Parts: sequence; structure tokens; C-alpha cells
Amino acid sequence: MAGNITFTMIKPDAVAKNNIGPILSMINKAGFKIKAMKYTQMSKAQAETFYGVHSERPFFGELVQFMTSGPIVAAILEKDNAVEDFRKLIGATDPSKADEGTIRKAFAESIQNNAVHGSDSDENAQIEGGLHFSFYERF
Ligand code: UDP
Ligand code: MG
Repeated sequence: MAGNITFTMIKPDAVAKNNIGPILSMINKAGFKIKAMKYTQMSKAQAETFYGVHSERPFFGELVQFMTSGPIVAAILEKDNAVEDFRKLIGATDPSKADEGTIRKAFAESIQNNAVHGSDSDENAQIEGGLHFSFYERF
């Protein structure tokens, strides 16, 4: 059975462009409930851990640089079928390939500066939420 939790970040590009409000509005309108939320800035070590699965990819260094370049909004979201439904809401990694009505279509600048993160599996949603939030920060 699909889980009901996913993890998201509003990335530094979208925060810098004052798009926190419009993105949260799309998330709420799509039926996701906020279980935990934090306005923070990742350290290099945190970003390297978070994106560890990509450490051998050519874009890794620039990705870590970008993700630590300014504040983010991190959140745990709840909805039935959360991981899959949230991936649909954010759209393709490359915004030029993202469908109309998706967050990345509306707000992403490039394949790197693509406005939002969304977990790709129930297992990773748990791991990623655990990197940012303690038990006592979840409601
Ligand atoms: N990324 C990048 N260049 C690429 C592919 C990905 O800079 O060619 C960045 C982008 O910010 C993306 C993140 O690395 O969101 C993680 O990549 P992934 O393939 O997991 O995409 P996502 O799951 O975020 O759609
Ligand atoms: Mg991914």
C-alpha cells in the first residue's frame, strides 16, 4: 500500500523570487496537509548527505552549491498516495518538459533551479523527513 507522507523543499531559487506563498498555496489546494515545516538554510554537509545518491553525477557539486546558496522551506506533507501525487503536482525535473499546471512549469528556472523537491519513494520520504525534523516537530 502506498504511504501517505512525502517530503518537500521549496528551493533557494523559488525562495529568492518570493514564491513561497504561491507554491504553498498550490500544495494546499492539491489537498496536502502540512505535518512539519521549517525555514532554514542547509549546510554543505547537510546538502551532500541529502543528495548523496547523486554524488557520482556530474552536476553534484553545482547542485550542492545551489542548494546551500540561500534559505529553503522544508516540509513534511500528508495525503493519500502522497509520493506519487506530489510528484505529479511538481512536474518533470526539467521545467521545459513539465506539464501545464505543475509547480515546476509555473516557477522553475532550469533543470537545476527547479523550485521544489519531492521525494521519489515512501522509503526516501521517511529518510528525508528524518534528516530535517524530529518527532517533536511533527503535528
Ligand atoms: N539536477 C541537476 N541537473 C540534472 C539533473 C538534476 O542540476 O541534470 C538537480 C535538480 O535540482 C534536481 C536534483 O538535481 O531536482 C535531483 O535530481 P533528480 O534526478 O532526483 O530530480 P528530481 O527527483 O528532483 O525531479
Ligand atoms: Mg529525485
